[in-house]
Amino acid sequence: MNPSGHVALVTGGGSGLGEATARALAARGAKVALADIQVERATQVAEEIGGIAVKCDVTSEEDGQAAILAAAEKLGAPRILVNCAGIAVAVKTVGKDGPHSLDLYRKVIEINLLGTFNMIRLFAAAAQDLDPLEGGERGVIVNTASVAAFDGQVGQVAYSASKGGVVGMTLPIARDLSRSGIRVCTIAPGIFKTPMMAGLPEDAQASLGQQVPFPPRLGEPSEYAQLACHIVENQMLNGETIRLDGAIRMAP
Ligand code: NAD
Repeated sequence: MNPSGHVALVTGGGSGLGEATARALAARGAKVALADIQVERATQVAEEIGGIAVKCDVTSEEDGQAAILAAAEKLGAPRILVNCAGIAVAVKTVGKDGPHSLDLYRKVIEINLLGTFNMIRLFAAAAQDLDPLEGGERGVIVNTASVAAFDGQVGQVAYSASKGGVVGMTLPIARDLSRSGIRVCTIAPGIFKTPMMAGLPEDAQASLGQQVPFPPRLGEPSEYAQLACHIVENQMLNGETIRLDGAIRMAP
């Protein structure tokens, strides 16, 4: 789908990969609604790109529905959903050296996996009622997993599980929604320079960058956004999870 003139809903749109994608879609002529739990930052981005911001916790059915309705009322029915909302926690090991609490595990699964599913199902239900575009396409969904889904490190137990869940549901949801002309793909990023990574000291970021075979650096949010836009535009991409990681394979 050519995003120009269509409405895109970007979760986590106030920061990092979501912000970059919102900007890239707007630059391609899309009307963008940013849904973020931190609405102040999202509002700033929305003002800069002529879109709207909605305060939305992706784990809430009410918030998700309200975000889709707000986008539809102010911009038009969304045809594009980009799921970037997420949290990363690097915690304690499992076992007596630092038991990984059930509450923390639940929280990460709730936001990264259930939150993504919640937005997909609400978006899909609305998009199924839209008239098909050229080629029978009604909508497109881009999710965000992580290389941690395949290559999880100590401390990433909950995070890896949540992102593995996003990878695992991509194909069955894509096959299901294909009947309605809605495509679904997932991007599994390596390590990108976003506020999520800003907690790491500069030298730790540099050394992570050096572990990337090529290019030996952290990814730029604009490089994620470029792939997200390509998925929107390329109708043959469906049900796929694409690693965007410079071929990094982390040492255990
Ligand atoms: P970020 O922290 O810069 O942005 C995440 C955004 O999600 C924030 O604006 C935050 O307010 C929002 N958010 C968090 N919980 C939310 C909720 N419950 N409801 C709505 N919004 C919520 O992080 P980022 O680096 O841009 O990460 C975006 C996505 O990419 C995440 O899912 C993350 O796990 C994934 N990812 C990031 C990297 C990386 O290196 N930065 C690598 C792999 C995967």
